[in-house]
Amino acid sequence: MYTRRTVKAELGEIYDVELEADLLQANRNIAEENEELLRKHGVTAIDVMGSTGSGKTTLIEGLVERLKERYRVTVFDGDLTTTIDSDLIAMHGVEVVQINTGRGCHLDANLVRKALQSIDFKGVDILLIENVGNLICPADFPLGSEKRIVVISVTEGPYTVVKHPFMFIDADVVVINKMDLAEAMGVDVQKLEEDVHTVNPGARVVRTNCRSGLGLEEVVKALGL
Ligand code: MG
Ligand code: ZN
Repeated sequence: MYTRRTVKAELGEIYDVELEADLLQANRNIAEENEELLRKHGVTAIDVMGSTGSGKTTLIEGLVERLKERYRVTVFDGDLTTTIDSDLIAMHGVEVVQINTGRGCHLDANLVRKALQSIDFKGVDILLIENVGNLICPADFPLGSEKRIVVISVTEGPYTVVKHPFMFIDADVVVINKMDLAEAMGVDVQKLEEDVHTVNPGARVVRTNCRSGLGLEEVVKALGL
């Protein structure tokens, strides 16, 4: 026998500045301006979100390699303080703008607007935006991009989707990465896919091993590129 009680947070009950409705609205307004600006300049912006270590940077490196012959690609790379990921991506010969958030656990539309002010739109067809590694608040902070990718890896265990449903609701493409480790991790990938489709029936799910390149062509196709 066991007892379990649940204490639930009601809306507005958490002392967290991120839940302030007016801040979220201010972010949405700037996101709309970003979207408008990107559309005006013919830039397709794609968010890449997911936990630290899920493979966002490796996915972006693989996408850059597959897209750079056909498109001019720029990457915004969100991270707290380091330039590790942007240095890796820059080695593929594309323009990278590092966005350091300091203590901030996600990118917001205002930071992206600031980064947009630093680029020459004439030289950009596709903008990939790597968010800070986090499966929670990026869901509440649209950036103004056209498409959203969420990357999860089988090493995060079997409950990544059911525990973070809000991240998947607006995703266009969900990448299940590190497929080579699925068996060792004992993760039922079919079940993960079903979990995605329960919260978002329209999402395209692609299984990958971003290190080896498995599935990356399929991600490109799923993005319509
Ligand atoms: Mg990264
Ligand atoms: Zn955050």
